[in-house]
Amino acid sequence: MPVSIPNLDSVTLHYFENCMGCAACAPSCPYYYVDKHYAPVEKAEFLREILRKKYTISGRLAGRLVGAKLPKSEEDFKKLMVFAYRCANCGRCYTTCPYGIDSGAMVNRLRQVLSSAGYAPTLLRQLSAMEKEGGYVAAARKIWEDFLNTAQAPVEKKSARVLLMVSLGDILISRQAVLDAVTVLKSVGEDFTLPGRPLGVFPPVGYTLGDLEAARAVVAEIVKYVESLSPQIVVILNGCYTYSYFRFEATNILRRKFGFKLLHISELLAEYLKSGRLKLKKLGIKVVLQDSCQLARRGGVVEEPRRVLEACADVLDVKHSGRDVECLGGGAGIGILSRQISDELVKALGATVASSDWERQFLEKLERDYEKATAKRIKILKDVDADVVVALCPFALEALKRGGVEAEHFVSFVAKALW
Ligand code: SF4
Ligand code: SF4
Repeated sequence: MPVSIPNLDSVTLHYFENCMGCAACAPSCPYYYVDKHYAPVEKAEFLREILRKKYTISGRLAGRLVGAKLPKSEEDFKKLMVFAYRCANCGRCYTTCPYGIDSGAMVNRLRQVLSSAGYAPTLLRQLSAMEKEGGYVAAARKIWEDFLNTAQAPVEKKSARVLLMVSLGDILISRQAVLDAVTVLKSVGEDFTLPGRPLGVFPPVGYTLGDLEAARAVVAEIVKYVESLSPQIVVILNGCYTYSYFRFEATNILRRKFGFKLLHISELLAEYLKSGRLKLKKLGIKVVLQDSCQLARRGGVVEEPRRVLEACADVLDVKHSGRDVECLGGGAGIGILSRQISDELVKALGATVASSDWERQFLEKLERDYEKATAKRIKILKDVDADVVVALCPFALEALKRGGVEAEHFVSFVAKALW
């Protein structure tokens, strides 16, 4: 099967050429503790083999002798699938690499190669197609109407200062957090609006499976819709890849600036607190914050959630926090593929996901590995004497709850401390 090989832009060229094979990145990866072969450098090497075959003379002439090869057989592709889906794109490996090589970005490019040859988890492919074509809006109409009835907030209000960006995934997995965000916005007297329909499933799903054209189309459509309402600020609740994609990649992909500022809810609440609009009482509770990889490491949003939590709780220290946060393994679509979340999505959308025996086994093994990948971090969090772990992204929350940890979404915790 022919594959589409990523272009060698300057960043990819650096990641491709400058790895020394020192393996300093290995212990930073949650999947390394599942199997040593899932070390970042080993996963990225599969893409390097492909790039060598296309972009080096020695690779074209000597092939495997110089570590250059293209996947050809079904077995080749299936093997690559296993490695490509043992990465949450958390970015921790690039902070430990002496050369700043982002092996997660290399794995994402490996997923692009696989996707171009038709290899991606069926559920992600179907969700991405529904997100691109808009089919999820009609399929989830009742769920959305029920949410709006409960929220009792302005909908599609033009020129409101704040638009709360709510996806279908937010409603299904973090419904209470969305409602609590609405409560907080009302309590500070914010001029805000909800969208008139869910904005994506977990936008952009295409990004997780390496279908960049689907991701681009979804983001373009959502940005167009948002700009038609002219808010000044768009607020995201999901601290996973939706935040980093819309914040850092979308303007490059669409090649223009947007007519609004984009913030995570923790950044907005920190602004309210600073200006005195948000008044919180002390709850007498000890909390520990599980930072979000995308927010803290890629976005530098470290102080904002802490300042807000410190206003209502005793915030305990935990090692490997802030920019150095250890990932809980569910980013880049792995959390979406977990049984709990995928069942919710399939039920809500009335979808039928026809998977082969091989794919069912692939997903079962992925689920087991995902649980193992979270175990190290969960033990560290449990060892802190906190009453509750506060998290900023839905996949972290799911992993924590599954691991038997008392956990709460940041905005839900803050809503309890409102005067
Ligand atoms: S981005 Fe995170 S999950 Fe992916 S290889 Fe690097 S450390 Fe591992
Ligand atoms: S730490 Fe950097 S240079 Fe060393 S193996 Fe990992 S990616 Fe390569």
